[in-house]
Amino acid sequence: MKYIGAHVSASGGVENAPINAHNIGANAFALFTKNQRQWLSSPLSQKSIDEFRNNCEKFGFKPFQILPHDSYLINLGHPEEEGLMKSRDAFLDEMQRCEQLGLDRLNFHPGSHLNKIDIDTCLKTIGESINITLDKTKGVTAVIENTAGQGTNMGHTFEQIAQIISHVEDKSRVGVCIDTCHSFAAGYDFSTPEGIKAAFDHFDKVIGFKYLRGMHLNDAKKGLNSRVDRHDSIGAGTLGSNPFKILMKDPRLNDMPLILETPNEEIWAAEIAQMRLWEKE
Ligand SMILES: [Zn+2]
Ligand SMILES: [Zn+2]
Repeated sequence: MKYIGAHVSASGGVENAPINAHNIGANAFALFTKNQRQWLSSPLSQKSIDEFRNNCEKFGFKPFQILPHDSYLINLGHPEEEGLMKSRDAFLDEMQRCEQLGLDRLNFHPGSHLNKIDIDTCLKTIGESINITLDKTKGVTAVIENTAGQGTNMGHTFEQIAQIISHVEDKSRVGVCIDTCHSFAAGYDFSTPEGIKAAFDHFDKVIGFKYLRGMHLNDAKKGLNSRVDRHDSIGAGTLGSNPFKILMKDPRLNDMPLILETPNEEIWAAEIAQMRLWEKE
């Protein structure tokens, strides 16, 4: 079965995210557990933690249906000591928040070399950052998201993600999230049935489906291999509806969070309902 939702607001407290997800008919959701544009946030209060857990139980959200996303400021492959330490501290805080909330995975963008170190060094640094964090936490999997490859962002090829995973000691707590828009922007042709098959075959060969812990379902505003990260509503962009009809039929995407990060939140409920129809078609 498919678990479909959106990256919902946690404004007013993380406990509101499961309510917001329920209100759009979602059976999965993503959230930020702190302000994603600030380095420091106050710790989660025990009241927030309890209410989050209660609301998840009330609306039927189990940990495998929830894909928290870390802050955009974090760069686990940072070329400079100060930026790297700051990022590793912030990432540990994000993982600990997931532990407190009883969540089992944290989605993050791998990092950027900023033209100051070579790609291999950056990928190794990211792997070491993951190792350091996993050593200090329990039960939460670090889920690497593939990127569009904008600027000096790492992780736009499945090979780079495989290389990061190769540096991770505990392979049972590292996973991958595939974003359809990022894949297309990075040159994987998710717009056609043949392209999806080729991309998934390549993913399985280079990384392996056993690492897949979730997906981001986004149409794209830009073309194949544009290397530009701009999401569009499902069916409104350069991917169109067809890829999502195919994905809804793929049993390899069962039992994991499938998350919309599409720009018009007014139509999230309709987008989710449409996905469910495609799943049943
Ligand atoms: Zn994404
Ligand atoms: Zn994106």
